[in-house]
Amino acid sequence: MKSIISLLIICSFFSCQTENEQTIETAEREVKVLKPRNIILMIGDGMGVTQVTAAMYANGNKLALEKTTHTGLMKTAASDKLITDSAAGATAFSIGKKAYNGAVGIDKDSVAHETILERAKREGLSTGLIATASLQHATPACFYAHQPSRKMFEEITDDFIKNPVDFFVAGGKKYFTERKDGRNLLDSLSAKNVTLFPEIKNISGEGKAGVFVADEEPLSILRGRESYLPEATKTGIQRLSKNEKGFFLMVEGSQIDWGGHDNDSDYIIEEMLEFDQAIEQALAFAEKDGNTLVIITADHETGGYAINGGKLDGSEIKAGFTTAHHTAVMVPVFAFGPGAEKFTGIYENTAIYDKMMQLWGY
Ligand code: MG
Ligand code: ZN
Repeated sequence: MKSIISLLIICSFFSCQTENEQTIETAEREVKVLKPRNIILMIGDGMGVTQVTAAMYANGNKLALEKTTHTGLMKTAASDKLITDSAAGATAFSIGKKAYNGAVGIDKDSVAHETILERAKREGLSTGLIATASLQHATPACFYAHQPSRKMFEEITDDFIKNPVDFFVAGGKKYFTERKDGRNLLDSLSAKNVTLFPEIKNISGEGKAGVFVADEEPLSILRGRESYLPEATKTGIQRLSKNEKGFFLMVEGSQIDWGGHDNDSDYIIEEMLEFDQAIEQALAFAEKDGNTLVIITADHETGGYAINGGKLDGSEIKAGFTTAHHTAVMVPVFAFGPGAEKFTGIYENTAIYDKMMQLWGY
């Protein structure tokens, strides 16, 4: 009797081993496969889990970003502070290094590093920047500029002129035209073959294209701005995807953060929903294309925003705030497309850069 039992145990032990080995083999085979041609990095400035949740409830308990397949959590601290600002946050994404608050495309020792956008350009990919802030605002600036302070708008504009992206839609025209040095940099833009169009729907022809939606910062949707982020995203993707080598596009829902600073739940929700419509455009393209990785994340949370009740149908959300500034809480990361599986887990903001670079093999 004893020997029969031990034989059974040995048998089941061996069969267990074999099953495990097969699983591991399968897992290894799955990990090797995919490399995206295009990357669309979508940054909801100040977009914590509550911002996402509030917009979801207000929108009938659904968001386009729910179509993403992989989710992670990201630590957001700056090199010198537990609470980051948008410059250090975007610099972590663009150069993969922790930086001090206010730093644009430079590390904590003020050393400039090539950004992922600049690298993509050097590899022959097309590039684009879309924001509901000015082009020189911290988040977009960190992808093309290298300056010690986010407030150096004119110097940041000079950096943009050196090597403009193929497509942009944002505010910030006045840093080209009303400058302390008296220069009109719109001439320099056209010298670099950038054609400016009055509106997104006017964009035509080949070559680099840009739209300034405002002289300085665009209005919020609540104050009457016509939504443009989804249309800009769709048009940007259409144009950039003509490059067979691929493209890098950064899309920012800039004002989710400003709603947080204002402790204004409606402001947050309106800007969140516009950002989600832009996400819908990106995911629709990625789904059809099959070679596009979409990453949706935030630089930090703003407002210490909480939902303290409301109505089940989303018609009312009782909002609470702990601060008019940013907080240090982890933020969500959503991913879809080839390489999306790399974005599960818990990691530092600099890992977003590392993962994108690894996936591209740079
Ligand atoms: Mg921003
Ligand atoms: Zn902010």
